[in-house]
Amino acid sequence: MQKKQQLCILGATGSIGVSTLDVVARHPDRYGVFALTAHSQVKKLAEQCALFLPKVAVVGTAKAANELAALLKEMQLSHIDILFGPEALCQVASANECDSVMAAIVGAAGLPASLAAARAGKKVLLANKEALVMSGQIFIDTIRESGAAILPIDSEHNAIFQCLPDHYNRVPGQHGIHKILLTASGGPFLHRDVATLDDVTPEQAIAHPNWVMGRKISVDSATMMNKGLEVIEAHWLFAAPADQIEVLIHPQSVVHSMVSYVDGSVMAQMGNPDMRTPIAYGLAYPERMDSGVAPLDFLKLKGLHFEAPDFQRFPCLKLAYDALRAGKSAATILNASNEVAVQAFLDKRIGFRMINQIIQRTLEKMPAVHTLDLETILACDVEARSIAEAMISS
Ligand code: NDP
Ligand code: MG
Repeated sequence: MQKKQQLCILGATGSIGVSTLDVVARHPDRYGVFALTAHSQVKKLAEQCALFLPKVAVVGTAKAANELAALLKEMQLSHIDILFGPEALCQVASANECDSVMAAIVGAAGLPASLAAARAGKKVLLANKEALVMSGQIFIDTIRESGAAILPIDSEHNAIFQCLPDHYNRVPGQHGIHKILLTASGGPFLHRDVATLDDVTPEQAIAHPNWVMGRKISVDSATMMNKGLEVIEAHWLFAAPADQIEVLIHPQSVVHSMVSYVDGSVMAQMGNPDMRTPIAYGLAYPERMDSGVAPLDFLKLKGLHFEAPDFQRFPCLKLAYDALRAGKSAATILNASNEVAVQAFLDKRIGFRMINQIIQRTLEKMPAVHTLDLETILACDVEARSIAEAMISS
């Protein structure tokens, strides 16, 4: 019998974490859970511990760790080790006992642990796109040096990965690739009068038409910064220049992305919009296994529609392309200021249309510098956050 793959799930209590555990629960013969991590949802983590019996559980703070210890004691699960804080995330992500790491913490907070998994040569299932956007070259170099495998979980990148040739070796020019076509739903405000976008509430912004996701990525989808981050993510994952990555609005979210080849062929990956498909693909790669997702019923589709994105409506998408072309630390600044602005919008401190303005002004205020190591990237992240926060406060 094959040895069970031991998993570390970073961000187990989030949308991707929960979908991952749903897939894992369908295959108890293939996967064991070494570690589960959360930040503050202690009760949810305790419930997951009871079902998946990890060796280690990690939370954000000492207080949360004490709460978790009390809950696990009540559940007679005191044998589960409890750790807390950012260093503990890196520790479980690089532990010898773990084979694969689902990197599903949201935002910059996920970078050190995602990178630790890459450095330790793990199979890295990357959902945490912000980590790659922030650290780009360093992340890819680390993967190469350690021999780690990186499997994109973001549905578009997972689709592209599936549409590329098996022997694709990060030199796209040699494989006759014309364009990478990144599809985007357009989010909840695709057809809303732009003049009224200042009035939208966080509740309206996070009500995504096709996907159920965490709050931050849902707002990113409404501004299309999510697609902007994904353009940068695709650049690093597939060594594609900005001009080779084209965004197409596709409101049905059935075609998850495509690769267009020089001979006129276009390969598309399709399916119902459910993250368990890319998660199962990443977990089982190079095999396939049941994910719980229903097969796509073509007879029920009401057409597939495609249109070009409008940069006036979605200025964040343009800011992301510009940051990718500017290089150096521009993407780190873009990501950090976006995280601050999105949180401020969710906290009702700024309007929806202020998000792109905060990002643009932060990029203007901070000159892009070379980012050769993690320390410089993290310092740049901190500085961009404080500039964006100061703007919001004033
Ligand atoms: P959620 O907000 O639903 O979950 C985030 C997870 O990260 C939770 O487990 C949360 O813990 C944990 N977390 C939050 N802050 C910290 C922190 N400071 N330190 C450690 N852990 C933290 O996010 P999603 O699952 O939606 O997204 C996760 C990542 O996957 C993001 O990078 C997103 O862009 C990407 N992604 C998500 C998709 C989706 O469909 N949801 C699709 C494609 C990509 P707690 O619950 O305790 O707060
Ligand atoms: Mg995506």
